[in-house]
Amino acid sequence: MARRALRGTVLTFTGDPFLAEDPAATLSITEDALVVMEDGVVAAVTPYHPDHERALEVVHYPDAILCPGFIDCHVHYPQTQMIGAYGAQLLDWLNRYTFPTEEQFADPAHAAEVARLFLAELLRNGTTTAAVYCTVHPQSVEAFFTESHRLNTRMIAGKMLMDRNAPAALLDTAESGHADSKALIERWHGKGRQLYAVTPRFAPTSSPEQLEAAGRLWREHPGTYLQTHLSENEAEVAWVEELFPDRHGYLDVYDKAGLTGRRAIFGHAVHLTEAEFACCHRTGSALAHCPTSNLFLGSGMFRLAEAKRRGRPVCVGLGTDLGAGTSFSQLRTLGEAYKVAHANGTALDALHGFYLATRGGAQALDLERIIGSIAPGYEADIVVLDLKATPLLAFRMAHAQDWLEKLFVLMTLGDDRAIRATWVAGELRHAR
Ligand SMILES: [Zn+2]
Repeated sequence: MARRALRGTVLTFTGDPFLAEDPAATLSITEDALVVMEDGVVAAVTPYHPDHERALEVVHYPDAILCPGFIDCHVHYPQTQMIGAYGAQLLDWLNRYTFPTEEQFADPAHAAEVARLFLAELLRNGTTTAAVYCTVHPQSVEAFFTESHRLNTRMIAGKMLMDRNAPAALLDTAESGHADSKALIERWHGKGRQLYAVTPRFAPTSSPEQLEAAGRLWREHPGTYLQTHLSENEAEVAWVEELFPDRHGYLDVYDKAGLTGRRAIFGHAVHLTEAEFACCHRTGSALAHCPTSNLFLGSGMFRLAEAKRRGRPVCVGLGTDLGAGTSFSQLRTLGEAYKVAHANGTALDALHGFYLATRGGAQALDLERIIGSIAPGYEADIVVLDLKATPLLAFRMAHAQDWLEKLFVLMTLGDDRAIRATWVAGELRHAR
C-alpha cells in the first residue's frame, strides 16, 4: 500500500473530558500537521514541512479539520427505507412500519441493495464505524458484512433475535437463533475488520429461554459484542415489567440473563433508575445516546450528565438509531444532543460533544486502542470537516474566536455537506 499523508489541522483526544481534572487538556488541536498513513494505519503525526512532499503523496485540506472518523453506536441498516415514518410512538411504530419493512430482508438481493446504500450514506456523513442491527434473517447479516468487508470499514453487526411478540415471518426460536448466530460468528467475527454482535432486539420480543441462550452464546465467544434496546419508552418499560414480574426492573432482565458487561451496548436508556446506572458502571456496560430518535418518537430525554457522573461514570457513545433517528450525521446528532442536554438543565459543549462522537464512542465499543483517535498505530479512519461547506457556515466561521467555537458551530449548522472527505484505513472512500 502507498505511503500517503493528509495535511491540515488535526483534532484528537487523549482522555475523557467528562472525567479529567482539566477537561480542556484532553483535546489536542495541531494546526498545519501531517498525518502519515501506511498499511491502513497512522504511521506518524508531525508538523508539516515542504520536504515531506518529496517522499510522500500529500493531500492538502485547507479550511478544514482532520478528525477521527465518527462512531455510531446504535443504528438499524434495514430501516434506511423508512426514515420519517409519521405519527407513532415506539410500540405502534414497530408494528405499523418497522416489522413490515424488515420482512423484506428475507430477499438477499434487497438486503444487498440496502446494505450498499446504507454504508455509502454512513461514509458520506463521515461515520467510519457503527454498531448495526440487521434483521432476523441471516442473509441480511451476510449482505451487510459482505459490503463492509469490500469497503474495509470497521463495523459491528448481528442478526436480530426475536422469538415472540412479532409477526410470524420475523420469528426465530431460541435454538435456531443461537445456531444461526453461531454460524455467522464463525464466518464473520474477526474477518478483516468485521466484528459480531449478539443482537436480541429487546426484552419484549425474546423469551427468557432466548435471552439465556444469547447470554450463553456471548460468553462462548469472547471478543464478540452484545447489543440491544433498554428503557426507551415508558409504555415499553411497563410492558417489560408485566412480562418479567420476577425481575427488579428492565436492566435486571438482561443482567440475570448474563447480558451485561464490557462490550454490551444498550440503546437509549432514557428512563434508567440510579440502580441501573450503577449496574452499568459496575459491569462496564455501555449506553448509546440517540437524541434524534428519542425526540422523533417522543421517547424522552436521556440524562447524559447523570450517566457520566464522576464517581460511577458509565461509558456513553452516540447513536443515530435510524430509521427512528432522523439523520445519518453525527454533527446533526450532536446538535440534537445539545438540545436534549439543555432540556435537562445542563449543556453539552463542543469539547464533550466531539469526544462522544470519536474517542468516547470508541471507548463505549471497547475499541479505544485502535480507533477514535489520530495517533501513531491507530487505524487510519479520518473524516475531513469542511469549515466553509456552505455560505452561512463560512460566514459564521469568520466570526468564531477559537477552535471550540468553530466546533460548536459545526454541531449547530453542520451536516453531510460539511464532510469534505472520508478516509477508511488509509483509503479515500468519499469525497464531496
Ligand atoms: Zn434501535
